[in-house]
Amino acid sequence: MEYREEDFLQLSGIQHFAFCRRQWALIHLEQQWQENLRTVEGHILHEKAHDAFFIEKRGNLLIARGLPVFSRILGVSGACDVVEFHRSADGVSLFGREERYRPVPVEYKRGKPKEHRADELQLCCQAMCLEEMLLCEEIQIGYLYYGEPKRRQEVKLDETLRMQVCSMLEEMHGYFRRGHTPKSKPGKQCKACSLEDICMPWLYSAGSVEQYIKEAGR
Ligand code: SF4
Repeated sequence: MEYREEDFLQLSGIQHFAFCRRQWALIHLEQQWQENLRTVEGHILHEKAHDAFFIEKRGNLLIARGLPVFSRILGVSGACDVVEFHRSADGVSLFGREERYRPVPVEYKRGKPKEHRADELQLCCQAMCLEEMLLCEEIQIGYLYYGEPKRRQEVKLDETLRMQVCSMLEEMHGYFRRGHTPKSKPGKQCKACSLEDICMPWLYSAGSVEQYIKEAGR
């Protein structure tokens, strides 16, 4: 099955959905967004990576920034911060280039690597879009570049990660079709959530406000 363009979801929503389903729905279904320090810092880092969509050549490497991507199979569209195209005989043909290249996505993130796999899932989804668009073989690895420390780490885009991307997107499309915003599940993640004031998770907590504050470790 293939999705129609009008049903495409934002690729970047995967990271919100993996963090908290309600946060994703508030942002992507209800279009609520609250800037806080974290999101502002995140935008600045992304603007540096996305300053324009252009291709830079460095020896055997082509570097594309802000490359738009989509997948009809997954029903998503978005942009890759950076895609490196490494010259390789077993790579793919690119329009206007004689040589063949192997694509490797690189995603920029504010802060440190996280405990959950939201960033890896987003990166893997980008790779799956590139595979579909370029009709290329599976992209084995990608990189996540973290602002702290200023270093990138390799991510293996294995079968487990790919299956998680597929099942998560299926779930997201289900919520999208029904226009359903899940109820909040208050937890530690709420402390780092930019939508806490809108979500008001303590209202949904089974216990008291006092208990919620205690659980959130304030
Ligand atoms: S405050 Fe908590 S429950 Fe509400 S959207 Fe944020 S993370 Fe989810």
